[in-house]
Amino acid sequence: MQYCEKRAWLGLLGQAMLLIAGFMLIFGTARVEAAFAERAGSMSEIKAVRVSNSADKTRIVLDGTKEASYKVSVLSNPQRIVVDIQNAWLAPDVKKSTTIDSRFAKAVRIAQHDPSTVRVVVESSVGKNNYKVFPLKGGSTAYRIVLDFGNLGGSSSGSAIDFNPKPKPKDETAGSGGGTGSSTGTGTGTAADKNQGNAGGTDVVVKGEPVFTPGIKGKVIALDAGHGGSDVGAIGPTGVTEKGVTLRVALELQKLLVKEGATVIMTRSTDTEVSPKKAKASDIEELQARCDAGNDKNADIFISMHMDSFTNSSPSGTTGYYYVNGSKAGQRLARELAEGLVTELGTGNRGTKSCNFYVVKHTTMPAALIEMAFISNDKEERLMNSEAGIKKAAEGLLKGIRSFFG
Ligand SMILES: [Zn+2]
Repeated sequence: MQYCEKRAWLGLLGQAMLLIAGFMLIFGTARVEAAFAERAGSMSEIKAVRVSNSADKTRIVLDGTKEASYKVSVLSNPQRIVVDIQNAWLAPDVKKSTTIDSRFAKAVRIAQHDPSTVRVVVESSVGKNNYKVFPLKGGSTAYRIVLDFGNLGGSSSGSAIDFNPKPKPKDETAGSGGGTGSSTGTGTGTAADKNQGNAGGTDVVVKGEPVFTPGIKGKVIALDAGHGGSDVGAIGPTGVTEKGVTLRVALELQKLLVKEGATVIMTRSTDTEVSPKKAKASDIEELQARCDAGNDKNADIFISMHMDSFTNSSPSGTTGYYYVNGSKAGQRLARELAEGLVTELGTGNRGTKSCNFYVVKHTTMPAALIEMAFISNDKEERLMNSEAGIKKAAEGLLKGIRSFFG
């Protein structure tokens, strides 16, 4: 009897608790909904995702009703670029998944990640200098977040359209660096080509005039294959990477120089970053590591190999760059290398130009940065992706080095 009474009492208690829980659930949900509605007013509504493809980039634009902050992160295996838009909600009619299938990105997905975050995921294997996320305010849409994937190198674009006429040494080293670098803004580029990064700061490095004995034999020559590892550099129309071309030419040139009795210092001999910090290195750390490789070994000359690129495929040709406050020897080296390449590759000669690029500034010996050809040009991409083209480029550079030492 006592037992039964206890059970009845417990049953009653259970029912009461269920009732209370029910009330809590109803009112709780209502409270959350009210809070959401209140917040939604101050949130940015993401109303559309637009994708466009051009020869040099894939652009994804997110249209929002209000300014919103966002965080960019990278996930691996496979690589995905993730943009979390804060204080935002996704309009129900936005397409959740879009196949892109360009050489820069495969697909984009968008979802309401949590009540106040819209997550955009782009499947893309490009390196860190080949994507850029930035906001745009005003215009027909209140707020846009733009995700660009592709050849965003500003420096090479700058040189391609020959935007900077005669550089003035003082202006070049003042402020952000100037020169043919991207920070002067040509209206065509967005992100700086890392390996051509402006030296920055207001310091003026002045290089002395070296004296060389004739011939390649016994010389210490530093070869810098531009980009590498996480930094692919520019990408050609069919997907050929700048970092691949520069490495192939550097390895071929190394063989030729060793045969002629030179000691060759390679900043890299594989597809990797040069800084021991690898992909975690800042641009300056990475570029300084390349300079150090030559400086520490007292190299006689330093040659940085690159491929030029532009926002359309028409520009072509070879350009030699030297440090604006550098030695006459540096300028001569840039000219000889460019001429050697032009002779062997049959490319057009775009001339020799002064610049403030980091690797030619912060190396202690005569240094040149060579844009061997345009990877954005179909014909030159094909040429520099062929065994014959690589051999010709190495021969051309060898010819230039030979003329330089006399
Ligand atoms: Zn480059």
